Amino acid sequence: MNQHTVAGVEVSGDHWIGGRRVASAEQFDDVSPIDETVVARIARGGVEEAHAAIAAAKAAFPGWAATPPAERARLLHRIADLVEQRVEQLAIVETTDNGALLRSHLRGVMPRVAHNFRFFADYLVHDLHHPEFDTRGHRNQVSWNPSGVAVLITPWNAPLMLATWKVAPALAAGCTVVLKPAEWSPLTASLLADITVEAGLPDGVFNVVQGFGEDVGDALTGHPDVSRISFTGSVPTARLIARSAAANLTPCSFELGGKSPFVVFDDADLDEAVAHAVEQYDNAGQVCLAGVRLLVQDGVHDEFVARFVERASSLRQGDPRDLATDIGPNVSREHLERIDGFVQRAIADGARVVIGGGPHTELGGLYYRPTLFADAAPGSEILTEEVFGPVLTIQRFATEDEAVTMANGTEFGLAGVLFTGDPDRAERVGAQLVAGTLWVNCFFVRDLRAPFGGARHSGVGREGGTWSFDFYCDVKNTCTNQQRWTIQP
Ligand code: ADP
Repeated sequence: MNQHTVAGVEVSGDHWIGGRRVASAEQFDDVSPIDETVVARIARGGVEEAHAAIAAAKAAFPGWAATPPAERARLLHRIADLVEQRVEQLAIVETTDNGALLRSHLRGVMPRVAHNFRFFADYLVHDLHHPEFDTRGHRNQVSWNPSGVAVLITPWNAPLMLATWKVAPALAAGCTVVLKPAEWSPLTASLLADITVEAGLPDGVFNVVQGFGEDVGDALTGHPDVSRISFTGSVPTARLIARSAAANLTPCSFELGGKSPFVVFDDADLDEAVAHAVEQYDNAGQVCLAGVRLLVQDGVHDEFVARFVERASSLRQGDPRDLATDIGPNVSREHLERIDGFVQRAIADGARVVIGGGPHTELGGLYYRPTLFADAAPGSEILTEEVFGPVLTIQRFATEDEAVTMANGTEFGLAGVLFTGDPDRAERVGAQLVAGTLWVNCFFVRDLRAPFGGARHSGVGREGGTWSFDFYCDVKNTCTNQQRWTIQP
């Protein structure tokens, strides 16, 4: 038994396959970014474990697919109940594992995890309509049929939250699941496995394979028994997965990176705009949809910078378990060094550091100072590549056209944030921005009924509401000639 006590909570470091814990010959260290201590040893899965999990999910599929929707929904609500009962445990384990704020986990993230299950349970029972219509005496009936085994590969920046965006709709739809959490944040997926047992989910319906993408990735994504692959992570990894999935033409849903613009016009409410701009440092900048490129119109640019600097300087950086902390550590030393690489190259390229510009070494763990760059050269790396750390840039613009050109000037298109006091301008400019999600005079308002995903290299497909259901199902139209019944129905 590979059991660990993490922040007072018992967590298994093993896989969860076919209703039992499975070990691997090899293990790896799970390191907390708060202080770089090893908090658990995790089974390092390989091809064998990946294939065992797919086999277990395949075996469980017919039973789960045939389970009446109301019963599937009841089990998902039961999972949600247990998540709610364990918010504090899940929160402290996640914070220890990936360094994100305990405050956010307690108040927002873990309750949302429960909501993810409730939403898709209710969607299945109440909102999934089956359209029927006639074509010249023929009856069309559209049905959503679970596709089979869904492989879900998730990142470390919001581990349980992003995993359950996929797990909940996949299970609700009647798919069975193999979840591969990120190797930098493996723990809450393991706790979720415990919760599914207690909730009464049949063996094999939900499986967890731990390990490194390079060890298990191809075995999971190139397997002919996998019907769907949903992945959240980086563009290079998505390319590898797409290549591997191509062998079986397995449909993929990708939610990838971003370099989203945060556009502020002269007529905006400046206090609101500044408050939300500083929020782009949330989760130490490890948020795919963050508006990291501040684009501010000439008339308010200098005032915006002054207020931004004042507000950003008051952020408290430190231990994420302290509820007063605003910015915690970054997830790993490797990632911290990657962030610093971007920053140092930007400085070498001539960008001007307005605030920050290096790690916060006095704090001990993996902390990076909130950083703002000005005067970066157009087209330079810091303006075009995703850093995924607390690093923003600011640029000025004069006209709407210029703002739109700058906003759309990357290969990404995940989100956009727009601040203006003029509704006509919001509509005009908003219509031209390339983004899967556009926030106007607000940020981070999320409703699971809305589609979420990215344009261009930010993704393929959408998650949320009916988009998730469509993805995990084989949507079928049955067209019946009503005049050909020999026995009257
Ligand atoms: P990042 O750490 O930049 O988010 P990744 O996209 O590599 O990067 O990580 C997201 C998830 O993808 C993790 O769970 C990781 O283990 C997984 N992963 C990495 N490489 C592969 C691969 N070749 N195939 C499948 N999954 C992978």
